[in-house]
Amino acid sequence: MITKKQVEAFGSIETPFYFYDMDLLRQTLDVYKAQIDKYGYNAHYALKANANDRIIETIRNYGLGADCVSGNEVKLAVRSGFDPQKIVYAGVGKSDKEIRAALRAGIFSFNCESVPEIQIINDLATGMGKKARISIRVNPDIDAHTHKYISTGLKENKFGISPWGFQDVAELLAQCAHIEFLGLHFHVGSQITELPVFALLCRRVEELQRWFIEHGIPIRNLNLGGGLGIDYQDPNGDPVAHFAEYFDIIHKNLVVRPGQKVHFEPGRAIVGQCGHLISRVLYVKVGKEKKFAILDAGMNDLIRPALYQAWHDIENLSSTGRKLRYDVVGPVCESSDCWGQKRLISQCRRGDLFAIHSAGAYGQVMAMKYNQRDLAKAVYSDDLK
Ligand SMILES: *Cc1c(COP(=O)(O)O)cnc(C)c1O
Repeated sequence: MITKKQVEAFGSIETPFYFYDMDLLRQTLDVYKAQIDKYGYNAHYALKANANDRIIETIRNYGLGADCVSGNEVKLAVRSGFDPQKIVYAGVGKSDKEIRAALRAGIFSFNCESVPEIQIINDLATGMGKKARISIRVNPDIDAHTHKYISTGLKENKFGISPWGFQDVAELLAQCAHIEFLGLHFHVGSQITELPVFALLCRRVEELQRWFIEHGIPIRNLNLGGGLGIDYQDPNGDPVAHFAEYFDIIHKNLVVRPGQKVHFEPGRAIVGQCGHLISRVLYVKVGKEKKFAILDAGMNDLIRPALYQAWHDIENLSSTGRKLRYDVVGPVCESSDCWGQKRLISQCRRGDLFAIHSAGAYGQVMAMKYNQRDLAKAVYSDDLK
């Protein structure tokens, strides 16, 4: 919830900008950490959700590791002080250069997404006289009931290795002297709000890990990835992801064998609600049937609505007056640069401050300069006190 005092402070800041509620981030991490510790689980924050220095630093201070999906993310994680022993690295297209750099950094695990990738990692590690720790990302063929662009666990997906590839993996592992096999990794999609999906995942994990154990390949680690969703509909009323319910479902459904370690890679659930895109109304355009509120923030600042048809709550911070229906749009020359249609919003005027809520994850990191627009800056609540 953005306070009156914060709105006052926004008055002198150039819009659009990202506002990060660091108290909410810490509150979210408090809840998350308590859950992780309760069950003895390990967590790696998915850097791709938000890679701002101050956000990363706060998360690292809670003892989380880093989940990376590119060589530069691995570099950033190391530079930001994450313990390399807590860095995991996924991605379907790791280049030789990226693999070598990660080997040099001594990361905890490569999460391998194809059979040929395992071979290349072994070859490169051999050349460097190192041993690579790997897990394989398994495609469990689960429908996460989320948007098709962020669903990753269905069969014949570019992500992960499907069960029919297990035999090849086993044969290859037997030949790879420079690979240390840790276990299995899963990540079935993002913004998953139907929690039974995770119970289904746990049951699939058990079926799949049994194959390896029966073939004499021990599974020391199970990494269940990220994907827990947040409440985009009610960010003010429901600001912290439902971690207790999530981990309760995992704990009740996942079969953990003696000595096995369980890992997670939350992204959105940690940072999604602490970020807001703050914008000003430039014009109110009144048509025959519609009223448009034209903002100075556009799809280049936050691309989720245009890219995934994502829904973000929009609030007029400057008024609590009568609510009217507006189509809220941005300034970019694309029809998809639209924040929402027929939204009920307190009657607005030029200069009113709008908050587009739940913008902390996959917001600023995806920003671009399309139309030669400036990149929105970050403002942190800690600096406004
Ligand atoms: C993106 C990603 C995550 C984080 O996903 P969220 O939905 O933001 O929790 C975790 N693991 C991998 C491999 C990813 O690609």
